[in-house]
Amino acid sequence: MCSLCAPLSRRDFCAGAIILPLALGRERHGLLEPVLRLAPGPAPGQVAVTLDACPGHFDARIATMLVARRIPATIFITETWMRWNRDGLAYFLTHPDIFILENHGALHLPPVLGSKPVYGLQPAGSLAAIRTEVLNGAAAIQAATGRRPGWYRGAAGLYSPQAIPYIESLGWRIAGYSLNSDAGASLPAATVARRIAAAADGDVIEGHINQPRRASGAGIAAGLAALQAHGPHFTTLEAA
Ligand SMILES: [Zn+2]
Repeated sequence: MCSLCAPLSRRDFCAGAIILPLALGRERHGLLEPVLRLAPGPAPGQVAVTLDACPGHFDARIATMLVARRIPATIFITETWMRWNRDGLAYFLTHPDIFILENHGALHLPPVLGSKPVYGLQPAGSLAAIRTEVLNGAAAIQAATGRRPGWYRGAAGLYSPQAIPYIESLGWRIAGYSLNSDAGASLPAATVARRIAAAADGDVIEGHINQPRRASGAGIAAGLAALQAHGPHFTTLEAA
């Protein structure tokens, strides 16, 4: 039984972030899209920002805004992105109080069995290949930061049901989300900003920081600025 199917455990509560039971998650084409929310804190108004660095580029519009406004964010980073964006990686590492790097895989292969593409991405295909993708992604982060990541988010955010307990058995927690802000960096800026500004207590916000030439990134920056004006407490998956 995977953690998505199990009742919420004491460990999940103590860790601060909880994965909702499967019935409250989403299923797409036989794959699972886990929902992650923050456990209720002593005061309402907690949200966490998580941004994916899939293969692509460095979106300085978002990164510099986060630093200027002191908003912490968990960056789900791929080994590919780190190789392609040495300056962007250096920027993240220069601000360890703002950015925490977690595992988005080595080559951005969805943790999906079989050969059917997922949103155009070739899946890892087998449990052995999923293991390689996860371990190599973690090793790249550890080499860059000296810290072993604790969370994994699969490429495309979708998982074969068997992959979730398998990845957990390797020692990672599965990083779902509750607020998909940009639909794969595909939405107009105003839509993204409106979605983020409407974040509710406990939301784990997901977006992309690898598409500096798309409008969605401007929407993430604007939306987080608007959300901050509402006065939520920005926390991270690691600190919640
Ligand atoms: Zn991705």
